[in-house]
Amino acid sequence: MKQEQIDALREQPIGDGLLLIGGQWQPASDGGRLPVSSPIDGRSLCHLAAAAPADVDLAVRAARRSFESGVWSRMAPSERKKVLNRIADRIEAHHAELAVLGVRDNGTEIAMAWNAEPGSAAATFRYYAECVDKINGEIAPTPDGVLGLVHKEPVGVVAAIVPWNFPLMIGSWKIAPALAAGNSVVLKPSEEASLSLLRLAQLCLDAGLPEGVLNVVTGAGQITGDALAHHMDVDLITFTGSGPVGRQLMRASAQSNLKRVYLELGGKSPNIVFEDAPDLATAAKKSAMAIFRNSGQVCVAGSRLLVQRSVHDAFVEQLQNIAKALRVGDPLDVTTEVGAVSNARQLERNQRMLATAQQQGAQLRCGGNVIEPVPGGSYMRPAVLAGVQAEMEVAQQEVFGPVLAVMPFDDESHAVKLANGTAYGLASGVWTSNLSRAHRMVRAIKAGVVHVNTYGGSDLTVPLGGVRQSGNAHDKSLHALDKFLELKTAWIQL
Ligand code: NAD
Repeated sequence: MKQEQIDALREQPIGDGLLLIGGQWQPASDGGRLPVSSPIDGRSLCHLAAAAPADVDLAVRAARRSFESGVWSRMAPSERKKVLNRIADRIEAHHAELAVLGVRDNGTEIAMAWNAEPGSAAATFRYYAECVDKINGEIAPTPDGVLGLVHKEPVGVVAAIVPWNFPLMIGSWKIAPALAAGNSVVLKPSEEASLSLLRLAQLCLDAGLPEGVLNVVTGAGQITGDALAHHMDVDLITFTGSGPVGRQLMRASAQSNLKRVYLELGGKSPNIVFEDAPDLATAAKKSAMAIFRNSGQVCVAGSRLLVQRSVHDAFVEQLQNIAKALRVGDPLDVTTEVGAVSNARQLERNQRMLATAQQQGAQLRCGGNVIEPVPGGSYMRPAVLAGVQAEMEVAQQEVFGPVLAVMPFDDESHAVKLANGTAYGLASGVWTSNLSRAHRMVRAIKAGVVHVNTYGGSDLTVPLGGVRQSGNAHDKSLHALDKFLELKTAWIQL
């Protein structure tokens, strides 16, 4: 990643977004459009087509037609695999373009987006390409005289509804396994960050994905997304986003055709530092980045820092010094450590929750102020709140911004009680040199992932998902494929 490479792309004109339906790019049938501006400087980038329910219907019909035709669902697995690998090749060939486009759209610092977005997307298509010809059925251990075969089949039409924080990565976590399993897809990107996914869709066509197998409908969640969720011919929704929208999707399923609903939702993840952490300086540095990278707009962000009382004051001081020194600024500057807040609505929410926490008695140790390192953009300094009580809003609700809530604890059982004391269960971290304690904590914490002596590391081989109100499903790994496959039994009398 070189600054000159990025600068060469930062002003590249962006055409207005269209809908991809049955292999054709087209405007919304009623001419509806949504403006897109950049959180970097508030400048207008382009317009998106705002899909009306009639357009969503066309997209679902196109997906159904392609699915039933067998052009993809019955293509030889070895051929499907080649297409997915070619998509990965195209993503790699357009790495810089996709990275810069995405950052202009959502404001993530390029230092993070470079690998997290196109890098992850390409790796995801390759990973699931490798799975295509390894989806085996089963022969059941039935009694003599009968044969029980278990077939694995694609589900049909998959609706993938994704958020704005890492559109390309999360979009690929849905699209690639769904396609690998032989499904057709209707993708609904977030209206806050659709541009890199629209580009990805064109790359998929260029790579030879048959028309109608991937369709894209952009537009408002409450209109376009809602029409998709209520559609009678969508078989499955795979969703990443907020809890309230997750609930709406479950309702929509119940009110329509009982489509399967897989939810990856938010969190209020505890990051727990014991006095015997192997290296408190490293723990402080990683704990700061666990919450502040991408301005806290990370589902697994370590947004609650629980620190053992004996080291609390010294640790918080170290951490706030790190936070104060973080370079917040132009997301397209390779040296920027914290980019923009993705949109004005999110910035307002961050500020409101910060103010409420202070009214309720939390002490703001640093940051929290709105700044304008690039005129017209939306930015705030990383905020550290000490003296947070377990029942405060900032300890219970996801901010999805650069706001860290710090709480002291006395011993292991107190730490577990605080850690599990929210409705969520997405991620967590434990810092200790005591191996037995590390394993006890892994068992005791109610979360989809427990990081030990680090925070935030992962790769495609392990599942990512939450428990409790953080969701009911996983992205990544071989487990994610199962969402997109039906089991069918053949019971044969011999
Ligand atoms: P959101 O729920 O507001 O929107 C997500 C998507 O749902 C968007 O495409 C939106 O247009 C669509 N949508 C909104 N209303 C809809 C409706 N009524 N019917 C159908 N679709 C609708 O979430 P967001 O603000 O884009 O993203 C932030 C949230 O996502 C946070 O809560 C974050 O924790 C969560 N998230 C979770 C994970 C994870 O893996 N668990 C990863 C990233 C983000």
